Amino acid sequence: MTTAHDHRRLGRELDLFDTDPLIGAGLPYWLPDGAAVRHALEEYIRAAERRAGYRHVYSPVLGKRELYEISGHWSHYSDDMYPPLDVGGEQVVLRPSLCPHHAVIYRSRSHSYRELPLRMAELGGMYRAELSGVLGGLTRVRAIQLNDAHIFCTLDQVEKEAQGALEMIRAAYRALGLTPARYRLSLPGPGGKYVAAPELWRRSTALLIEVLDRSGLPYEAVEGEAAFYGPKIDVQVADSAGRESTLSTVQVDFHQPERFDLHYIGADGAKHRPVMVHRSVIGSVERAVAHLIEQHGGAFPAWLAPTQLVVLPVSESEVPNADALVGRCAALGLRAEVAGPERGSLGARIRAARLVPYQAVVGAEEAADDHVALRLRDGRRLAPRPAVDVLARVGALVEAHSTDLWADEDGS
Ligand SMILES: [Zn+2]
Repeated sequence: MTTAHDHRRLGRELDLFDTDPLIGAGLPYWLPDGAAVRHALEEYIRAAERRAGYRHVYSPVLGKRELYEISGHWSHYSDDMYPPLDVGGEQVVLRPSLCPHHAVIYRSRSHSYRELPLRMAELGGMYRAELSGVLGGLTRVRAIQLNDAHIFCTLDQVEKEAQGALEMIRAAYRALGLTPARYRLSLPGPGGKYVAAPELWRRSTALLIEVLDRSGLPYEAVEGEAAFYGPKIDVQVADSAGRESTLSTVQVDFHQPERFDLHYIGADGAKHRPVMVHRSVIGSVERAVAHLIEQHGGAFPAWLAPTQLVVLPVSESEVPNADALVGRCAALGLRAEVAGPERGSLGARIRAARLVPYQAVVGAEEAADDHVALRLRDGRRLAPRPAVDVLARVGALVEAHSTDLWADEDGS
């Protein structure tokens, strides 16, 4: 990887995130500009999930040891978990995944077949006991914010739900300007890491193969990459050095519904076992933002950019107009700031704002007419036009999560 696109270096240079030895290795904190990117990303995901019929929950980042004994994490995943905390004779654990909580939330109410597929989503915290030697930036962290969801459904509904999750993933990659390196069917490998239930593995693998074949996506089957409770479809991305990591995933799980004794009441009035489809559109927020930083070199799509529009008053006289324009941007939900003459010549200020998608220059003539001369990050320069038009156009592109800075017919 070139140093120019190392997300750790860019993260510090662009004031997105940082770490401090006193907080600890693998525990990055997010500065305001990084938090703006993260918030935009999280809101995109939540809105996409609401449109797709998911409902959001919150669940605690701790749970009793017993919860993870039932889920199987305790026996199959304890190497990655923190030691339990003793609290008044009880043992509680920082959770290694959200699945057990969601299974318990599902179980807390009775469900009719009419409610299925029941789609439960959460952007929630989880923890991984990574050794300090492997920690770095946002890619290997000890505290993870996961874009997670579980779909409780009938066997007949699995394929459509998994297909729908793949479509959400593809739409998200378009909006984020990302390209998957490959789709991977992740199967179990040798060793005792996986739950022993050959028939369940066979059924869930067959379902995922069907989903992949129908979607027409090319994929590779790889052994040793499954979750301990089932196979998965992983969407792999590559960094500039070609190193792969998993962002998105779709899994079919017969195991957890058994372990938690989940059921729904069928049309026949009898109890039936639902299937759990686990899916994540962008994976962990940390890894997704690391990948976005490296892919875009900090020049994020406008809807994700920490500062979307910088207003450049040519001289002191236009500073009040520039301030007013930033106020109008804020009222429209756009992130804007003024870079005034105290920051140097206009040329220097334009160079300093090279990663900002829109640079609105306001000279004496523009100020008098409430116009701006817009420069786009890609080098295009537009003739002066009414500020109200510019804000409407930029607002619409941001709202649409477009990766285009401007419609071509208006470029000059
Ligand atoms: Zn899960």
